[in-house]
Amino acid sequence: CAKAWGENTVQLYTPGAALPPSERLALKNGLRDALAQGQLFVEYQPQVDLASRRIVGVEALVRWQHPDLGRIDPGRFIPLAEETGLIVPIGEWVLRAACLQSRAWLDAGLPPVKTAVNLSARQLKAPGLVARVLQIVRETGMAAGSLDLEITEGILIEDIEGNRAVMSELRQAGVLVSIDDFGTGYSSLSYLSELPVDILKMDALFVRRLGSGGAARRSFALAESIVDMAHRLHLKVIAEAVETPEQLADLTAMQCDEAQGYLFARPLPADQVGLLLARQQQFPASVALA
Ligand code: C2E
Ligand code: MG
Ligand code: MG
Ligand code: MG
Repeated sequence: CAKAWGENTVQLYTPGAALPPSERLALKNGLRDALAQGQLFVEYQPQVDLASRRIVGVEALVRWQHPDLGRIDPGRFIPLAEETGLIVPIGEWVLRAACLQSRAWLDAGLPPVKTAVNLSARQLKAPGLVARVLQIVRETGMAAGSLDLEITEGILIEDIEGNRAVMSELRQAGVLVSIDDFGTGYSSLSYLSELPVDILKMDALFVRRLGSGGAARRSFALAESIVDMAHRLHLKVIAEAVETPEQLADLTAMQCDEAQGYLFARPLPADQVGLLLARQQQFPASVALA
C-alpha cells in the first residue's frame, strides 16, 4: 500500500516508536533486505570553515531507496535499525562507504577533507567497535585523522564511563570525536570537561533562533557562550542546519569555527561533492560557498 504512505501522510508521524505498527513492521522487515540488496546509499553534506568559507569536511548521511515506498529518511529507519540491532552492520557499511569515498577523492587528486560519520548507541556498546573502526580505516587507506565520529549527546550520557573509554581509545588512534546535537541533552554539560572529544556540533535548535536581530539578542548570547565555552576547552564548534545569511553572519561574529546547512549545500551525492571540491581547488582565491 505504497500510496497510503505518500510523503505527506508519513511526515506527520514522528520518527521511530510513533510509526503505525503496520508500517513499523514493514520497514523493519524491509531493512533486513536493504543492506543485502543495495538499497542503502550515502549522501555527503559539506562542512564549511567560516573564516575561509571553504569546504573542510563532509558529513556522511545514510539514505534508503525502498523499491516500493521510495526514499525513506534516516529519522524513520535508524530508530528501527537500532531496535533490531541491524544498525551495527548498517553503521559499519556506512563507515566503510564513507572511508572509501574519502580515499577516492584523495586518489582523484582532491585536497583532503575530514569525513564525519554518525555512530549509534548500539554501535558504541558493541564489543570490538574500536578494533572494527581501525580495521576499516586501515583497509580503506583512510587517514585516521580525517575521520570524525559523531556521537549524539543523548546517547553519550546513557553510559558515560563506558562511552568515555571507547572515545578515548578512538582518539588515541588519531580519530576525531564529535558530540552531535550538542545542547539538547543538557545533563552532559557537567561532564564536558572530562569527555575526550574534539568537536561540538551545536544543535539546530540554537541556530534556528539566530539571525533575527534585536529579538534574537538572548539567543545570540546563548550560542556565543557555547562557542566560548568550547574554545576554552580547546574544542571546535560546528553549527548545524544553517539556513540563512543572517544566521551565518551571527555565527561568524561569534567565531564559530564551521557550519553546515542548506545555505551552503544540502546532503549531496558523492559525485556532486567531488565537483564542489574540484571547483574549490581550481579557484583557490574564490569564496567557495554562500
Ligand atoms: P544529524 O547527524 O544531526 O544530521 C543532521 C541532519 O540535519 C541531517 O538529516 C541533515 O540532512 C539535516 N540538515 C542539514 N542541513 C540542514 C538545514 O539547513 N536545515 C534542516 N532543517 N536540516 C538540515 P538526515 O540526513 O535526515 O539525518 C537525520 C539523522 O539521522 C541524523 O542527524 C543522524 O542522527 C541520523 N543518521 C543519519 N545517517 C546516519 C548513519 O549513517 N548512522 C547513524 N547511526 N545515524 C544516522
Ligand atoms: Mg550527525
Ligand atoms: Mg546533528
Ligand atoms: Mg541535530
